[in-house]
Amino acid sequence: MKVLKGGRLIDGTGAGPVSGVAVVIRDKRIEAITTTSGAEWPDDADIIDVSGMTILPGLIDCHDHLAMHGYDLARRWGIDEPQSTRTLRTAKVLRETLAAGYTAIRDAAGLDAGFKRAIDEGLIPGPRLVVSLCIISPIGGIGDRVSPSGFSCCVPHDPLLPDGLVNSLADVRPVVRRVVRAGADVIKCATTGGASSRPEHGPRDGAFNLDEMQALMDEAHALDRRVMCHALGGRGLRIAIEAGVDSIEHGCYLDEEPELLDLMARRGIFFVPTFAVYDFHRKSALPHVRERAHHLQEHHAESLRRAFAAGVKIAAGTDAGGHGHPSNAMEIECLVKAGLRPLQALQAATGCAAECLGLEGDLGTVEKGKLADLVVVAGDPLSDVAALQNPERIALVLKGGEIAMDRLANNAMAQRQAAGVHNLSQ
Ligand SMILES: [Zn+2]
Repeated sequence: MKVLKGGRLIDGTGAGPVSGVAVVIRDKRIEAITTTSGAEWPDDADIIDVSGMTILPGLIDCHDHLAMHGYDLARRWGIDEPQSTRTLRTAKVLRETLAAGYTAIRDAAGLDAGFKRAIDEGLIPGPRLVVSLCIISPIGGIGDRVSPSGFSCCVPHDPLLPDGLVNSLADVRPVVRRVVRAGADVIKCATTGGASSRPEHGPRDGAFNLDEMQALMDEAHALDRRVMCHALGGRGLRIAIEAGVDSIEHGCYLDEEPELLDLMARRGIFFVPTFAVYDFHRKSALPHVRERAHHLQEHHAESLRRAFAAGVKIAAGTDAGGHGHPSNAMEIECLVKAGLRPLQALQAATGCAAECLGLEGDLGTVEKGKLADLVVVAGDPLSDVAALQNPERIALVLKGGEIAMDRLANNAMAQRQAAGVHNLSQ
C-alpha cells in the first residue's frame, strides 16, 4: 500500500481543489481518497508526504507524434540517421514524456505499435500509448507522398507503419483494415490540408468526399476503433463532422460554421485544438506556413471559446514532434491563453482527455477504483499553469501505482551524498 499524504487534490473531474487529502493506493489502483486527519495506516504502508504540493491525475496528451523529430524532409523521412538511432531517440522522448507527468499519450501517426509493446513489457519506460500508426488520406491529401509534378517519395514505406493512401472509395475499407492489422488502436485520417502542408493544399482545402468518410467511419467502428480526424476548416471539416468522426483535431475554423459546433456537442465529438503547434508554425522558415498560422490564430481561439460555450468537450493535444518535443503541458497554458479557466484546461488534459481516448473507466481522474496514474507538482497549477512545464516542479509521477519518477527521493539522496562528501573532506 502507498499513501500520498497531505497534498492538495485536483481530481480531473472539473471539481475545485481539496486540501489535506490522502490518496490511498493498493497495487495498481486507487483504493480510497480521504480527508480524515490522523488516519492510521498499516505498518507496512509506504507513506509519502506531499504536503504543500498538488496531486493531479496523470496528464494526457491526445495528439502527439512521439517518433517525429523535425519538420525537414530528411528527418521526416528518417534518412538522416540509422533506424536504430532513431528508435533510441524515440525511446528517450518516451522516457522524458513520462517523467514530465504525462502517463498516457495518443500518438497521431509515426509511432509504430512495437513501442507500445516494449513499454507494456517493461523494456523501456514510457506513458500508456494509444497509437494510430499513419494518416489515412486520399490522393493529394496530407498523407500522400507524391509531389505535384508526380515524383514519388524516394523512401520505401516502413512496413510497421502501413501506407494510409486511399485511391478510391473501394480502397477505403482495405486501408482501414491494414492499419488495424498493423496494431492501430485508433484511426487517424485527414479531410483538409493544414498549416504545414504543400502550398496548394491549405487549411480550408478538402480531401475525401462524404461517401468515402462514411465508409471509413463504418469500417473503423466495425473494428471498434475510434476515428481522430485532422480537419481545419471549409468543406472537409463539415464532411468529417457529418460523417461522425470521434474527434476533430486542430479545428481552427470551426468558428465560421457555428451549427457544426452544435452538431459536435450533440454527437459527443471531441475538439482537440492543438494550439501549441501553431506557435511554432508562426515562426516557420516557409512563408506559406507562416502566413497560414497567422491567419488562423484568431479564428482558432474563437473556435475554442464557441465550442466550449456550445458544450463541446475539449481535450488537450500538442501536435508535438515536427517541432521537437517541448513540454506537453505547454498546451495547457495555450488553452488558458485562448480562454479556458485553469481548472477547465487541466480537465482538458486529464478527465476529458481520458474520455476522448475512451479510457475514462481507468484513467483521467483521481477517484476510487481508477488506475493510480498520478502526478505531484510543487506549487499550485491553478495560479500558475506554466509550473507544469518546469521539470523541477514535477515532484513525483506514478503509473499504475508504480513510481515512474521521484524527484523528492532523488533530491534527498543528492543532499545526503553532498553531505557525505562534505563529511569525508573534513
Ligand atoms: Zn498531428
